[in-house]
Amino acid sequence: MHEQARLTRDHATLGKVGDLVSIEDIERIYSTSANANNAVKVACANAKCKVKVGITIISRAKLGRKKTPSSHFRGSHIFGCDRKPAQAAQTPADVSPTLPANPLKSTIPVVWVNPVGTFQGTGSSKPGSPGQVNPSGTSASGRSRVGAGTSQSQSQRVERFAKAWLELTQQARKAHPLGATWNTGGTYASAFYPFDYLNTQTMVPIGEKIHTASIESGKVSSGDFHIHLKEQTASTVPKVVIIDAAILNSSTAGQALAKHLTNQTPLANKTYLFFFGAFQTNPTTGQEELTVAHRYHFYVQT
Ligand SMILES: [Zn+2]
Repeated sequence: MHEQARLTRDHATLGKVGDLVSIEDIERIYSTSANANNAVKVACANAKCKVKVGITIISRAKLGRKKTPSSHFRGSHIFGCDRKPAQAAQTPADVSPTLPANPLKSTIPVVWVNPVGTFQGTGSSKPGSPGQVNPSGTSASGRSRVGAGTSQSQSQRVERFAKAWLELTQQARKAHPLGATWNTGGTYASAFYPFDYLNTQTMVPIGEKIHTASIESGKVSSGDFHIHLKEQTASTVPKVVIIDAAILNSSTAGQALAKHLTNQTPLANKTYLFFFGAFQTNPTTGQEELTVAHRYHFYVQT
């Protein structure tokens, strides 16, 4: 696990205030929770959170088993806290050669890859044939091999980037790299456009982003789903994402959403859409519309 926390009081062998310590380091010195908590004062490693955490030492001698359960830090973290120092993945000193890479960090993709055979960013291109839909949804999601701390995880799927974004604090989003030709800011924070926090009066100048919004309403029109997005501040110009039926039905969550929209039944409050592309004004309807160009460019969070 290699769980870490930050010292809030100097310690003779573990370090000074502000230094990161791992649970294993503490476990090596103290065999009981009481002794550890008396001697070591620590807080959450995430600088945004910093809540005081306690230390739970699981005695190996009593267990007779080596692995589970393991010693850990416990505390009441702020909402969305990842309990990790912002730069842990980039600091070689934090990575023990004897331990596997941190499971969360290693799953955060840092490079955006365009799906093969799809023309990007016109806002009007159509996907490949529905026959290409991969029901298992796993084969093309690339993660490079774990190397000497230099490997970069990459993905073609909005789903993977969205899941990573959801796990990061706003602070961590600003620090985490996301490399894509369209993402000039270069971070998770600059790659995403959350309708919940940002100005959506007109989306056309925003350009290509991974947009995220909840659903106001939706309807089916000649094989496409037209989904009206919720905005924090009401706008006179509707924002609509258009998704081909085959694309929406390519995931289980998408199928469930399609059913709701087709039958006009109410959605759960927390249904969010993540979709990649750029909004354009439709001169006929006056709406700002974004057509999802590929099934990897769309994710339903429920
Ligand atoms: Zn925390």
